[in-house]
Amino acid sequence: MRAFEYLRPGDVDTAVTLVRADPAAQYLAGGTTQVDLMLKDGILDPERVVDITRLPLRGITADERTLRVGALTTMEELAADPTVARRLPLVRTALLAGASTQLRNMSTIGGNLLQRTRCRYFRDPTVPDCNKRAPGSGCAAITGAGARMHAILGAGENCIALHASDLCVPLVALDAVVRVRGGDGERAIPLTEFYVLPGDRPDVETVLRHGDLITAVEVPLLPAAARSVYLKIRDRASYEFALVSVAAALTIEDGVVTEARMGLGGVGTIPWRARAAEQVLTGGPATVETYRAAAVTELRDPFTVPGTGFKPELARRTIVRALETVAGGPT
Ligand SMILES: Cc1cc2nc3c(=O)[nH]c(=O)nc-3n(C[C@H](O)[C@H](O)[C@H](O)COP(=O)(O)OP(=O)(O)OC[C@H]3O[C@@H](n4cnc5c(N)ncnc54)[C@H](O)[C@@H]3O)c2cc1C
Ligand code: SF4
Repeated sequence: MRAFEYLRPGDVDTAVTLVRADPAAQYLAGGTTQVDLMLKDGILDPERVVDITRLPLRGITADERTLRVGALTTMEELAADPTVARRLPLVRTALLAGASTQLRNMSTIGGNLLQRTRCRYFRDPTVPDCNKRAPGSGCAAITGAGARMHAILGAGENCIALHASDLCVPLVALDAVVRVRGGDGERAIPLTEFYVLPGDRPDVETVLRHGDLITAVEVPLLPAAARSVYLKIRDRASYEFALVSVAAALTIEDGVVTEARMGLGGVGTIPWRARAAEQVLTGGPATVETYRAAAVTELRDPFTVPGTGFKPELARRTIVRALETVAGGPT
């Protein structure tokens, strides 16, 4: 690690100007991803670090239609919010299933959206072939050991790195919107359009431009979310990233699914909106046969490598279990 300039501005415009002025500058929020990558893994080497923790971007407000979460709100603060508990049980469960209490007290919502992949090859500077870290160098994970925590949807021969956020899974299902301040002022980006599939440029992960600052996330308070679940399958009960997770919200009238929203975690290179499954569910009878058909349709074309061969069936079964749980009554 080389020496870097550390700055801690108190207003948003100064922070954005500082990062935009320097191609090698980066933001620092709770630091739970960023500091690891800089100090422990040694794969990020910014010349200028702009600490944003003094910016007035912390807090949660709500009206009848929308929950607005400042980017510097911590995961633990959002999980404890009464509107989240009452109107967004799937968001609360996803937050509490993520990381540990200590980490959740440090981790911000903006940082959670932009956390980097846990791919072990990406985080190991002695591995030369990683298209995400060194574009064009290849992908060590495709043939290497330990692909268990890698993606099977949105993946390809250039990169199978997983997007590891729990929070993004319900947020993508609920059509959350990300507020961003950049050089041209503020803009709103739907979360479903925020992340970019790796394709032949795995190093490009979002539609953000250099210096863009996430200021808030807006979550619609949909009636369907009251009947919802977040189910996370992981290797151990204490804190661990998902092997597969499902956020599901259903509206069922007279035994028929009239609205279905679903996000998948642990399987996608981006937080995965399960639109194919939603289409099968909507208008169908609320039965296990419909749930199975939805799961099979969503997982019809996975990209697997030897370490991830178990994931498609695990994902199908987790989808069915999540739907059965949510259809059984309000969570
Ligand atoms: C041991 C461990 C276990 C974990 N387990 C889980 C888990 O189970 N589930 C889960 O979802 N997460 C998990 N995490 C990830 C954790 O949730 C993220 O590290 C955290 O949310 C990142 O937030 P932060 O504020 O610390 O971000 P930082 O580390 O400060 O920043 C992360 C990235 O976001 C950028 N950034 C931060 N804020 C902004 C902003 N407002 N605008 C623009 N750019 C910004 C930074 O420049 C950096 O690139 C785990 C982390 C660790 C270390
Ligand atoms: S999966 Fe992606 S991040 Fe991991 S080694 Fe391959 S290219 Fe790099």
